[in-house]
Amino acid sequence: MAVDTVTMDQIVSLSRRRGFVFPSSEIYGGMGSTYDYGHYGVLLKNNIRQRWFEAMVLERDDIVALDSAVILHPRVWEASGHVEGFTDPLVDCRTCKLRFRADKLEDSQCGRKPSKHPGEFSECDLTEPRQFNLMFQTTVGPVEDSGSRAFLRPETAQGIFINFKNVLQLARRRPPFGIAQIGRSFRNEITPGNFLFRVREFEQMEMEFFVPPADSEGWYRYWIDERLGWYLRYGLRRSRLRVREHGPEERSHYSQGTSDIEYEYPIGWSELEGVANRGDFDLMRHTEFSTTKLEYVGPDGDRYVPHVIEPAVSLERIIVAMLVDAYDEEVVGERERTVLRLHPEIAPVTAAILPLIAKGEGMVAKARTLYEELRKRHSVEYDDNGAIGRRYRRQDEIGTPWAFTIDDQTLSDDTVTVRDRDSLAQERLPIGGVRAWLDDALERDWQTPKGA
Ligand code: ATP
Repeated sequence: MAVDTVTMDQIVSLSRRRGFVFPSSEIYGGMGSTYDYGHYGVLLKNNIRQRWFEAMVLERDDIVALDSAVILHPRVWEASGHVEGFTDPLVDCRTCKLRFRADKLEDSQCGRKPSKHPGEFSECDLTEPRQFNLMFQTTVGPVEDSGSRAFLRPETAQGIFINFKNVLQLARRRPPFGIAQIGRSFRNEITPGNFLFRVREFEQMEMEFFVPPADSEGWYRYWIDERLGWYLRYGLRRSRLRVREHGPEERSHYSQGTSDIEYEYPIGWSELEGVANRGDFDLMRHTEFSTTKLEYVGPDGDRYVPHVIEPAVSLERIIVAMLVDAYDEEVVGERERTVLRLHPEIAPVTAAILPLIAKGEGMVAKARTLYEELRKRHSVEYDDNGAIGRRYRRQDEIGTPWAFTIDDQTLSDDTVTVRDRDSLAQERLPIGGVRAWLDDALERDWQTPKGA
């Protein structure tokens, strides 16, 4: 039976219990809304990152990769508008000394009476809203003065725009073409929270697609469909995804169209990924501020400033969506099990190799040989610790799609059982065919048994 309503607490608790993600700096009392990733969290992140990179770069001829610096020239952020405009309106409460986003009071909890929102409790004493810049500042070099002021990037996109000319020349591209980048971004969010949904440092995956101006609307629609398709390809349920187009009042002044791909998180429908038609704003602004012309000049001397379509998402928001979508609890026989029904190409561990009896020398030897063979190509785990039922449940909780068990029969006929995480079906295979079986299984289409 599929669990339909998953709470953020269930996800946080599983993540912690199984070492995916845990609160950062815990031995120093923690640092609110900051998280560290453990072994399975790192494997999960690597897989999501790799699937994005395959779809956005490796499987295409029209997109190249880039890895730009985190600390860029400070003028970049003047040109981009972040110094002036990357702000949230803030209110302080003189009573509890907490600070809230003026436009998100409804989502915040009063510091004295958490059942109320700021401003609702009789003791609340809120200031007028003030603008607060979300960029983290730092200084570069040994002297701290205004000339050494720099910022940690709040998005990866600007690193792409300032390299437009390099890529055009060195990668010999012509529009339509894209530049993709994955890397950490930093925002001094006032009200971080909801686990990884809003954090102060996160890993963004952004792609800027440069197109002839007349084609921008078509490409904008194309990228909304492509990105939605990517989530479906990796198993998110269609019923939990929707596209919400921003009205003109919600859009940035330069945007010619913005759509959010939203997921129905436990906090309600919220932005998973944004797809924006940014027009020529960014290239024009960097041309103006740097005095380097950022334009495309065709073979016949025709020139124009390309328009830009940008799909932008963070790994963190994908992780939360995928964990929520995958989380399931069911009763099997007498026992309850928690299972993460992750797509096999997303799951941190692809297969577990389990000798039925840890002290059975013959079984251990065969299991280790199989493990050594599979680990060359796949993320696999060898586990001989504890009763077999407990080992299966441990693998279910981290979302391992298949387990190969080496038992008595293996010793006589060289076959193993393969157990399927979702259906719990077991079949026997020759041990020599496991590697090919696993390669095939990963090629097969996968759909979540939780429904559409
Ligand atoms: P929001 O309105 O939720 O603050 P945003 O519209 O400011 O998001 P963008 O600037 O469009 O977000 O950033 C692109 C993507 O980066 C978002 O769709 C989201 O996936 C991710 N992202 C933005 N801020 C955060 C954050 N604080 N924590 C985790 N991911 C984030």
